[in-house]
Amino acid sequence: MKVILAQPRGFCAGVVRAIEIVERALQKYGPPVYVRHEIVHNKYVVERLKAKGAHFVENLSDVPDHAVTIFSAHGVPRSVEDDAASRGLPVLNATCPLVTKVHNQGKRYVAQGRVLILVGHAGHPEVEGTMGQITGPAVLVQNEKDVENLAIPPDVPVAYVTQTTLSVDDTRGIIAALQRRFTDIVGPETRDICYATQNRQSAVRDLSRLVDVILVVGAKNSSNSNRLREIGAEAGVPSHLIADGSELQPEWVRGRHTVGITAGASAPEVLVDDVIAALRRLGPVEVSTLPGREEHIEFRLPAELADIKGREYVATGS
Ligand code: SF4
Repeated sequence: MKVILAQPRGFCAGVVRAIEIVERALQKYGPPVYVRHEIVHNKYVVERLKAKGAHFVENLSDVPDHAVTIFSAHGVPRSVEDDAASRGLPVLNATCPLVTKVHNQGKRYVAQGRVLILVGHAGHPEVEGTMGQITGPAVLVQNEKDVENLAIPPDVPVAYVTQTTLSVDDTRGIIAALQRRFTDIVGPETRDICYATQNRQSAVRDLSRLVDVILVVGAKNSSNSNRLREIGAEAGVPSHLIADGSELQPEWVRGRHTVGITAGASAPEVLVDDVIAALRRLGPVEVSTLPGREEHIEFRLPAELADIKGREYVATGS
């Protein structure tokens, strides 16, 4: 069996930074540190950090007074920042800088007197964070039908921003519908959308032209991993989202010559290795990697952690 790995795949710079923040906070301040929400959507990563003394909570009220508190890569609503500040909690913010950029864009648009339209998935923590950062009129749209149903007159000045785990291709139809609907509409340059989302989606499209089946390594609650699986399936290739090798079902690959593997932005490379090991248990495997876009992006850590050594995880493709 041939196995072809997509390139790039797996960790993005925002995920590497978020995990580093927890690792370094544990080293600098000692356990426990408290992380609001899963630092990134991956059970393996979360369990490893738990074993080192990170406590994951959904609500700030579960963080004891004075405890070091970390906000996850997805970002938080303003109310959570305010709560933490009013309790005097020492906070390290692991919100991905690209998510913060979306927050800032949204705030600028609202300050210009525009109604903000966020294109994203209801219930995703990034969407909750972005909506909660905007102190002004803001609505969420998830699809073109939502655009049709917007109760905003067509001549009202509006602006849109998008969830970072949606690529340019994902949002194109919705943005076109918004542009048809409103006469005064602005939005960010398409190049501002997350590089990692776009690159991983392009890579899985390339992969889909070469393989009989695609395995996407990632968590069930990872938005970008689910999207990678959907893109594989839309290209007509049976595609499966798996957390690790233990979830591989032999019938998915039985009789297939070429298996493609990619990984969501929050899935570490060790889990890709685990899936390859599971394939090897079914028979001989020859592994190659697609040539793909190189990534050299790194995000700066909070100043108070810059002097601590870390970096257990390395992003692929960078
Ligand atoms: S996928 Fe993009 S926005 Fe999300 S954490 Fe990674 S770099 Fe940041």
